[in-house]
Amino acid sequence: MTQGPRESVLQRRLTLSELLDVPTFTEVVKGFVELYKIGIKVFDEKGGKLADIKIGNGDFCGYVFSFPEGRSRCTKQVGRVKDGPLAPTQGARLPLLDDSAPIKGLVTSPCFTGLRYLLLPITFEGDVLGRVVFGPFLPAEQKGFPESLTEVSAQLEIGRAQELVEKVRRAPESTVARVMVHFAQVLDTLVAQGQRTLLTSQLHIEATLVQNRELEDRAQKLSEMNVKLKELDRLKSAFLATVSHELRTPLTSIIGYSEMLAEGLAGPMSQEQNEYVRTIMDKGETLLKLISSILDISQIEAGRVRLNFEPSDIIEVVQSSVSSVKPQAQKKGITLDVQLPKEPVNAACDRDRLRQVVVNLLANAVKFTPTNGKITVILTPVSAQDDLGKKGYRISVEDSGIGIPKDQQEKIFQSFYQVDSSSTREFGGAGLGLAIVKSFVEGHGGVVKVVSAPGQGARFIAVLPEKPATPQVQIAPPVQPTPVANDRF
Ligand code: ADP
Repeated sequence: MTQGPRESVLQRRLTLSELLDVPTFTEVVKGFVELYKIGIKVFDEKGGKLADIKIGNGDFCGYVFSFPEGRSRCTKQVGRVKDGPLAPTQGARLPLLDDSAPIKGLVTSPCFTGLRYLLLPITFEGDVLGRVVFGPFLPAEQKGFPESLTEVSAQLEIGRAQELVEKVRRAPESTVARVMVHFAQVLDTLVAQGQRTLLTSQLHIEATLVQNRELEDRAQKLSEMNVKLKELDRLKSAFLATVSHELRTPLTSIIGYSEMLAEGLAGPMSQEQNEYVRTIMDKGETLLKLISSILDISQIEAGRVRLNFEPSDIIEVVQSSVSSVKPQAQKKGITLDVQLPKEPVNAACDRDRLRQVVVNLLANAVKFTPTNGKITVILTPVSAQDDLGKKGYRISVEDSGIGIPKDQQEKIFQSFYQVDSSSTREFGGAGLGLAIVKSFVEGHGGVVKVVSAPGQGARFIAVLPEKPATPQVQIAPPVQPTPVANDRF
């Protein structure tokens, strides 16, 4: 639901009932009425009654009202004081003030009964917000009744009327006018106080609303940006997937043909030629691995990888992974110690993906362990795993290599992250192996951890469940690298 902009309390014309705390104000009015024994009515600019405290005149007015003509004249008089102009017109006149200066806006409205009303506008910052009606009172100088009363009915008994009118407060008009001015001052103070309170609270509300709107705008912009970033990310992943796929085909041919040349299938080659061709083959293999990793990660990021779990012999998975890195380990004189349990380890897994997990961990171990180092691979039997809260097994790959500083141990699982980017030149790789490991292990419902310290080797442990929760799972994208501080978007 959209809301139009709210009119500010600073622009809006305030009403009397907004400015006054009506219950408190009514108490003040009551106090005045009791003190001066003259009724007070307060109306807002639309004629709505804010206070109406009567005193003394009820019996007299009731008597006059009991005559049809009295009723009609009375109604007219009430209309005059309530809704008529606050000006000396339509039967009203300027008040009789003995010594004091005229009171702005104050008018006297004589009633046909001889009683009188005083009317005073309530103004605030130049606007008329309503009026105060003081009365009726009996003018001090009044003797007997005017003709306008006696005309009401031949049945009207003057003696009775006289008796009843005695209960109405008798006072000089100028005195009542002064009381009225006094009342108006009190009212002014209350209105000013009310305005301050109202403005403070309303401005506070408005400020909060403005802040909320700004926050909403920002949230909206962020979510739009997020959508754009996700789309860009998807395009990047799709692009990487296509490019790496397209690169793989010719690269496989390059490797295949150089292998044939090296084998002498196209005729004998000199020793030097043979070395060159083998270098082409080696570099081709490295490039192929890199391209395969990029393809894997981009497919994971694009959400295109599904794991299919089937009952598997985990010992076989570990053994075949170890065999695939054996040649590199041997080249560096690294000892491979493989500790497997005596009993079979049967669990459901995506065999190819799990093999890739172990191969990636082993390839890193070989890469980051100096010559003549040692790598220990341990597979545990199936047993209760605290990390998973269910039964599972652990594959641990430990090396005696360069180790990983504590503050880097979480980051190395992000894609394209390397502890030392210059290591790319020394050790090769693109920082994708562990991101793939993490995605695949978590896809199985497992966890991967690292224990290491610089110079003291590293131990990677993959804890995997015996039975993944579902037979098939679409794996979530890996953690993206955290942007560096000045990398704003
Ligand atoms: P890379 O292709 O660079 O090996 P990985 O994602 O496999 O990418 O590893 C990320 C980084 O983690 C490596 O560049 C390296 O700095 C560090 N690392 C991973 N395995 C080891 C290890 N066994 N010993 C020391 N550092 C390691």
